[in-house]
Amino acid sequence: MVMSLKRAISPHLHRVGFATGISAMMARRQGGMRILMYHGVGTNDFPTQTFVAGLRFLRRKFDIVPLSVIVKNVLAGDPGTGREVALTFDDGLRNNLTVLYPILQRVEAPATFFVVPGLVERREWLWTHDARTRLTSLSDVDCYVFAGELHADASDCLGIVDWMKTLPNKQRVEVHQRIRERTKSFVATPAHHHELDLMAWDELNSLDPRLITIGSHSMNHPILSMISEDEIQTEILDSRRLLEERLQRPVEYFCYPNGDYDEKIVNAVRKTYTAAMAVKSKTVAIGDDPHCLPRVSAATQPDLLAWRLHRPTA
Ligand SMILES: [Zn+2]
Repeated sequence: MVMSLKRAISPHLHRVGFATGISAMMARRQGGMRILMYHGVGTNDFPTQTFVAGLRFLRRKFDIVPLSVIVKNVLAGDPGTGREVALTFDDGLRNNLTVLYPILQRVEAPATFFVVPGLVERREWLWTHDARTRLTSLSDVDCYVFAGELHADASDCLGIVDWMKTLPNKQRVEVHQRIRERTKSFVATPAHHHELDLMAWDELNSLDPRLITIGSHSMNHPILSMISEDEIQTEILDSRRLLEERLQRPVEYFCYPNGDYDEKIVNAVRKTYTAAMAVKSKTVAIGDDPHCLPRVSAATQPDLLAWRLHRPTA
């Protein structure tokens, strides 16, 4: 009863907080620095106009700074002004170049793109995107039967992808191959390409380094806690090397795919990068581990985005 009442009231509160400026005022009063996590822009899930409305709000009420400003503050024990917000975009999607980049350029808003160099090299989609899109091209009955053949703890298409995340990486790669074989006739639509294609090397190279920082999002975007010792070298160390070689710019930051890590992974990241981004719904504060910096998922709706700046768990 209490929960459903809260759910019913929340959107109204968010709207009022946004329209009156109270959300922004409370966030600034709270202090702390904020790192926001985005993915694709200009898609059905996140229309361009909605992103622009959120960006306008952030520019009016906060200071959009390069990620390096927040990292330097954390390393120096400097609490900052309480107005710093850094924008980060995961996966290196091409719509970040075609839709987002011109907008950032126009208003000179800095951002960090976390790129998956192994996939750029092979011109592939993220495995989760590929598996999900292929599986949902099958009928519900086919997915149910296929899940049985795979001995998957799942009864539908999306359940198979969730189950794959729990597998040791090598086994997950084998299952993905079986999905490819099962969906040989699958053809991606233009909408799929717009939503899921990644930037190519020449496109990444065209991004102005004064505006866009490039970070590593691992070599192949596996679930890092499910990889073997020998895969740590590839995913964490070699991904940095390949990015720096292809883009001829320093790569100092890492971002954990799916926000997933364990102690062994964090230790490897600590030896290789200046800082790393996790997914934790809180503001950045002095004393935070620079290799597990919290990031707040940027809501697509500007009023919820504003709300999350002072209530990150909303
Ligand atoms: Zn990702």
